[in-house]
Amino acid sequence: MAILEEVRKDYGVIPNYVDGNFVEAPADGYLDSYNPAKGEIIAKTPLTTKEGVDQAVQAAARAFEEWSQLPVTERIQYLVKLKLAVERHKEEIARIISQNMGKTIREARGEIRRALENVDAALGMPTITLGKKMIRVTSNIDEEYIREPLGVFAIVTPMNFPVMIPFWFLPYAIATGNTVVLKPSELDPAPMYWVMKVIHEEVGLPPGVVNLVNGAKDTVHSLITHKDVAGVTFVGSTPVAKIIYETASKAGKRVLAQGGAKNPEVVMPDANFERTVSNLLGSVYNMAGQRCLAAANIIVVGDIYDRFLNAFVEGAKKIKVGYGLDESVDMGPMASKKGKERVLHYIEKGLEEGAKLILDGRGFKSEEYPNGFFLGPSVFTEAREGMIITREEIFGPVAIIIRAEDFDEAVDLSNNLAPYGNAASIFTESGKYAREYALRVNAGNVGINIGVAAPLGYFPFGGRKLSFFGTLHGQMDAIDFFTDKKVVITRWW
Ligand code: NAD
Repeated sequence: MAILEEVRKDYGVIPNYVDGNFVEAPADGYLDSYNPAKGEIIAKTPLTTKEGVDQAVQAAARAFEEWSQLPVTERIQYLVKLKLAVERHKEEIARIISQNMGKTIREARGEIRRALENVDAALGMPTITLGKKMIRVTSNIDEEYIREPLGVFAIVTPMNFPVMIPFWFLPYAIATGNTVVLKPSELDPAPMYWVMKVIHEEVGLPPGVVNLVNGAKDTVHSLITHKDVAGVTFVGSTPVAKIIYETASKAGKRVLAQGGAKNPEVVMPDANFERTVSNLLGSVYNMAGQRCLAAANIIVVGDIYDRFLNAFVEGAKKIKVGYGLDESVDMGPMASKKGKERVLHYIEKGLEEGAKLILDGRGFKSEEYPNGFFLGPSVFTEAREGMIITREEIFGPVAIIIRAEDFDEAVDLSNNLAPYGNAASIFTESGKYAREYALRVNAGNVGINIGVAAPLGYFPFGGRKLSFFGTLHGQMDAIDFFTDKKVVITRWW
């Protein structure tokens, strides 16, 4: 393949996928979807109307009747086909992700790999969802529980992992016998449209088991309050997660809502220096910082601070920014113009508050792609607790490097700089500090010498404080979310 080969130049108006057919969405309007490296429109996202949402939910509700009755051992055969089909098309799907979201092709390939891990994990559903039985709870009486699917699930996802995040839920939802209506981000709808095409052509799922509706806020509201939707999974920013949690709960749905992040990562003086620097550079700047597990506040303990800062900034300067489809590029553009403006706004705020911008990525210009939404890497120092830039999610290629006197201060800063609790990491060679950090930090995913603490599909995806609304988490926890336990008590005279 040529280095910059794009699967299509233009994806046109993205269709919905309803009842086993691609259909033109009944729409209230259309939003432009971009190639953010070129700053060119490559697709139109229809804003699906309430009627369009209803068609998809009705199709899913009809499909539920038979799909839920199919033995789980047969349902997972479709997952085998899904895995093989996506594998066959992984390169083209990765290229579409890069073209529509902006991340590098290497990151996009990694995204597909992480998406498919969830299919692997969901293949264990026959054993995972086995019921439990106690015989002779009293004479002649046995008691057991079985798990049952609930119906139609709405899956609402963000722009940063347009394929992986739908796969945090979709394989588990359908393997447990539910049916789904997926609403991807309006910013980059092309990758999931392509995955649906692959599903349509090569997986042969019964019509209505998986449906796709495109749109934004209003489409989401019609979906999550629809009378025939049993539950909602959401991943996105905290303000929206809160709205979804409140609105869908009020409408009587089960809700699992993962929000934004502001992850602290601690560097201890005994850390493996080179590996820590390179890990943290990757954590902050890969995907141009648009990752919910990215390092945001880097807390460096003790005398190592100057040496770390110097090496980190030198490393950041070497990052090659450009069109993600170019294999030599390390960091793509921001996914949207609005996202770029948000980062510029936060950099201004940081400067107003007195932090020092020792590496300024605002002026980055690509000669080849002058209209792209690019930013170079930035680094702030002299930021303090209470500042907006240490508290709020910037979601861009900006590192904030803070000095702490000792381990205890680093733990306090980790827990108090920001009201989020998605992830936290520590870099150290000391088992004692590693253990203590893991136990004392209030975050759902903890990394020990890991810059991006991303759990495998076989584990729940944590998240605390403002990073999560609900009880059960994604991935493996979603099996409890997608099923209900029914108790059967039996007496034979
Ligand atoms: P976003 O909140 O803007 O959008 C997410 C989804 O919500 C989209 O499908 C969008 O159409 C919909 N939406 C937006 N506004 C809405 C509203 N008012 N009412 C109903 N629906 C609405 O998020 P984004 O910019 O697409 O993604 C980035 C955010 O997602 C970051 O905050 C990031 O930290 C977070 N994220 C979190 C996790 C996690 O696991 N916790 C994972 C990935 C991304």
